[in-house]
Amino acid sequence: MKSPEEFRKGSQQLGRALSSPITVELEVTSRCNNMCQFCYNVWEKGHSHTNMTAILDQLQEADVKMLFFTGGEPLMRRDIFELIEHARNHSMKTCVVTNGTLLTEEKAQMLKNLHTSVQVSLHGTEKTHDSLVGVQGAYQKAACGLNHLADHRVPTNINLALTRLNFRELPHVEDVAKSLGANLSMTRLVLTGKHARKALQFTSRTISELMRFLLHCDVKGASIQSPFPVCCLGEEGIPSMLEIYQKFDVVGCQGGITWCAVSPEGLVRTCGAMGSEEGDLKEESLRSIWSRSEFIWKCRTFSHVPQKCLDCEYLSLCTGGCRADAYAASGGISDPDPLSTLC
Ligand code: SF4
Ligand code: SF4
Repeated sequence: MKSPEEFRKGSQQLGRALSSPITVELEVTSRCNNMCQFCYNVWEKGHSHTNMTAILDQLQEADVKMLFFTGGEPLMRRDIFELIEHARNHSMKTCVVTNGTLLTEEKAQMLKNLHTSVQVSLHGTEKTHDSLVGVQGAYQKAACGLNHLADHRVPTNINLALTRLNFRELPHVEDVAKSLGANLSMTRLVLTGKHARKALQFTSRTISELMRFLLHCDVKGASIQSPFPVCCLGEEGIPSMLEIYQKFDVVGCQGGITWCAVSPEGLVRTCGAMGSEEGDLKEESLRSIWSRSEFIWKCRTFSHVPQKCLDCEYLSLCTGGCRADAYAASGGISDPDPLSTLC
């Protein structure tokens, strides 16, 4: 484990060296055929930028290497395969992040031909998944889509959003992933969306239950795509949290350092869950936004984490937690992650 000084220095060097992000989540539409209770997206529904190829050209000009096509539901765009092809022709690696319900055999074949990977959301058993995404039959359709991807050998990751209602069903999702040869990841709940149900958020009791469950369950080789603060169970819980960090591959926050999101209207944010908009690609280049925005500069120089995290010995593990959750809770990017103050 790196010392906080070493870690901060490395992050600052990386952030200052990059004149644009390496990875972009491109939200190609805000339309979606699910109504997830935990949707983290911050915009109102209804937008699809018509000139998405101009935005793709902008991203190429900024030398973006990896592109996640997200939404909304990206497969609701009729031109999604042309957009993927456009990005592939610009030498970008691509991944389509989908709820899986619109994946037919033909689409799976097209995705295979385009050499893209796919991430499909599965949030538990059929009953729980349908209830969380707000649509009866969504699980069956996603399972069918996953089978098509497996039949066509499309590299696939199955992702479960951890909420207090579904975390015990992680082993079921792991079984599905194993049977299809897919990878498994989890996303920490970040309730920043305008329509997200706050009742799903963890309390001090349920966060302890979740961590006990993750510590003792048989699931192996999964990643957690947004970090839980190492201190989220209080001082006494730190040894357990360190075991969880050893057991799972927990990805630290890269928002505003190597990563950003672009909304369906071309607005730039440090990640898909972040509420603050830093510029508009219809009016300004990504490189210009990246060098001009004070908010992004704070992230790039790693001065965006709370004071208490700057010298914390666990900074290199949890990177100070989730900045989007902190911003949503208090309006300040440098305020503590709400999960770090629960216990
Ligand atoms: S870096 Fe911050 S959030 Fe992480 S354990 Fe330390 S004090 Fe908690
Ligand atoms: S702020 Fe960081 S940890 Fe939180 S959702 Fe965005 S990228 Fe992930």
